[in-house]
Parts: sequence; structure tokens; C-alpha cells
Amino acid sequence: MILNDSFSSVGGSPTLSTEIEAVRGMLQSVGKVAVFTGAGMSAESGIPTFRGDGGLWRGRRPEEWATPQAFMQSPEEVREFYQWRRGIVEEAQPHAGHLALGKWSSGDSHHVEIVTQNVDGLHQRSGCSRVWELHGSLWSQHCHDCGTQESDLEKTHCPCGGRLRPSVVWFGEGLPSGVWAESERAMRESELILVIGTSAVVYPAAGLVGMAAREGIPIVEINPEPALDSQTVCITGPAAKVLPILLA
Ligand SMILES: [Zn+2]
Repeated sequence: MILNDSFSSVGGSPTLSTEIEAVRGMLQSVGKVAVFTGAGMSAESGIPTFRGDGGLWRGRRPEEWATPQAFMQSPEEVREFYQWRRGIVEEAQPHAGHLALGKWSSGDSHHVEIVTQNVDGLHQRSGCSRVWELHGSLWSQHCHDCGTQESDLEKTHCPCGGRLRPSVVWFGEGLPSGVWAESERAMRESELILVIGTSAVVYPAAGLVGMAAREGIPIVEINPEPALDSQTVCITGPAAKVLPILLA
């Protein structure tokens, strides 16, 4: 069920599309929902997506800074790279879709767990409490040597003498096993999954969506362009427009 444009405008304001009405009906008959989000969700708040932007930081692509090798070679520059990224996020605001999700997930109608590939913390800033960050968080760091967590982002070194690094998953690293297990559980236990702002092609995180599809859990895709193979329904449109209507 795919429509090129889920919105028909009356006087400039979007009205309920067939797809949105269908998903509202599906939501009414379930209690547990997992929401799987990706870079597109944050991009609507003006946060650059990590891949394929073409932008450089100090002459190198962001992907080149987000590696264990870069940290070993130039730890101070990697630190500055993450301070720059935190600055972008601090200036950004959660959009209407974030806020609708935050309000809905903290209400009584459903048990909602968010599984996100984003590291910016915008879901938490907009009121979501059960958030599993598959790729870690910009807002915490830990010791490269002993693994001790450190919440003070101004600090550069652990009491043990080791360097602190951002608690994000770098290219070439595995996902944190505890968060992965909780994400898998949240997806498996859900009766409906909303996939928002991601084509779900980056493994291993994307494997969670495939797993849920194989288990027969209905998957609703919300993307500006349909990108998933395994959706039950696709609502085409930006999350900032769709979610306030869908979750109202
Ligand atoms: Zn340490």
C-alpha cells in the first residue's frame, strides 16, 4: 500500500491519508510498540546524516574521524570533532515528530520502546524514556583503557590515566552487547513496529528489522520515499508531518 504523497492539502494543512488512518486502526488493537529510528529522523532537525553528506571536517570525511585508528593517531582532534558535533546537536531542536513521539510514548495508551541508530539524544530531549541507542551516545564517554564511564564531557582522562573516548560505536567496532540484547527483546516483544527515517540497510542494526519481519510482526514504514522491502504499510512523508497526525 504505497501512495506517492500521503497528504492531500486542504487550505495548506494536511488531512488524514488512507495509510495514516489504516495505521491508527492497527495501533488501536495493540499494546506494545517498538519504534526503530535512523538518521532521517534527525536530519529533519537539521542534523547532518553521517554518511554521504560530502562535507569535510579538517579536510577529512566524518567517517574517517569516527574510527579507532583516528583515535589512536590523533586523539585530541577526534575529541574536537565530537565537540563540534555536540555543538551542532545543541543548537538543533527536536521537531514536531520527535515531540509527538515523546508525548505518545510517555502516555498510557501503549508500551513504547525506541530503538535508535542515532547518537544525538533528541528522543530523550523530547520526552522518550525507554530509548535503546544501538550506536551509542554523543553525550557520554568512557575510558579507552579500562572502560570506566565518565559523564563529565570536559574531562580528557580517566583516573587510571587512560584517555576518554566518546561512547559511540565507531566504524569497525561491534555494537554494545547489552543494548543490542535489549533492542532485540524490544523488537521481538512488540506487536507492531514503526520504522522511521531509515532505509534500514546498515548492518547489523538493520538485521533487527529483518528479524521482526520474519517473525511476522507488522512493520509500518514512515519515510519521505519508500525504502524497505518488508513493510506492511508505508506512509510516505516527513516524520515531522506524519507523526503529529498519526499519534494524536
Ligand atoms: Zn580508565
